Amino acid sequence: MIEFGFALKQTRSEDLDKTSLERFHRLLELTPSFKRCFQCGNCSATCTARQFTDFSIRRVHTSFRRGEYDGLAEELRKCMLCGKCTLVCPRGVNLRSLIINMREILDEPQKTGKR
Ligand code: SF4
Ligand code: SF4
Repeated sequence: MIEFGFALKQTRSEDLDKTSLERFHRLLELTPSFKRCFQCGNCSATCTARQFTDFSIRRVHTSFRRGEYDGLAEELRKCMLCGKCTLVCPRGVNLRSLIINMREILDEPQKTGKR
């Protein structure tokens, strides 16, 4: 088999009957600039924490957007809040504020039975 250096990802689907986006909508209220994110990955490419760990801020905020919150609180502890990602974002997303708000929301007790 030819090795192309990349692999196709498994197909995935989101079951909105089981997934609540309540926390994501709350995050948009607190950091409205996140609505402008177009998933370019600049934030991850320049991340200070990424130089020392497997942390990916893009992966974290994409998971948050999808309502997949498992393990995100632990991941976010790798961020040093240096603010470099905010400086390089081409859409002006306030990532530092986004990260702080994601941490706070993930710490809040949940009201719904959905995950
Ligand atoms: S750099 Fe900005 S636009 Fe690009 S993925 Fe990160 S937050 Fe989104
Ligand atoms: S604030 Fe956090 S996510 Fe952003 S560049 Fe610094 S360590 Fe990375």
